[in-house]
Amino acid sequence: MQHDYAGSCHCGAIGFTLRTSIEPSDWSIRACQCSFCRAHDALSASDPAGQVTFVASSPESLQKYRFGLRTADFLLCRECGVYIGAVIVSAGDAFGIVNAHALKKTPANLTKVSAISYDTEDIAGRVTRREERWTPVIDFPA
Ligand SMILES: [Zn+2]
Repeated sequence: MQHDYAGSCHCGAIGFTLRTSIEPSDWSIRACQCSFCRAHDALSASDPAGQVTFVASSPESLQKYRFGLRTADFLLCRECGVYIGAVIVSAGDAFGIVNAHALKKTPANLTKVSAISYDTEDIAGRVTRREERWTPVIDFPA
């Protein structure tokens, strides 16, 4: 049974819908320890068997930010500053994560948080991990 989990930035200019059949209590939540994710207190969630859509009701508010190995676009709101998730495009396919802290309604049973550092990955390893673990993206603002 699939459910939709909606999230957005604070002002609502950008957002996402994650469709997954995994119960929130079984979500694999990663607290990436890079300086970007720590600064945003980001909790990354994805489901390789799910789907995610990112939208920008106010496209001029969408800021894409690349850093480190520069393989993915991290999606931030220019208006309110909230980080909602990230998208990587690889061989024509797009994969994404969402920031569970940007969910409109945080599931009460969101417990499985693991602190992870990906510092030792090279570009190929990083892209491969994201292709395998991130959620296939149905649509996102180009
Ligand atoms: Zn905003």
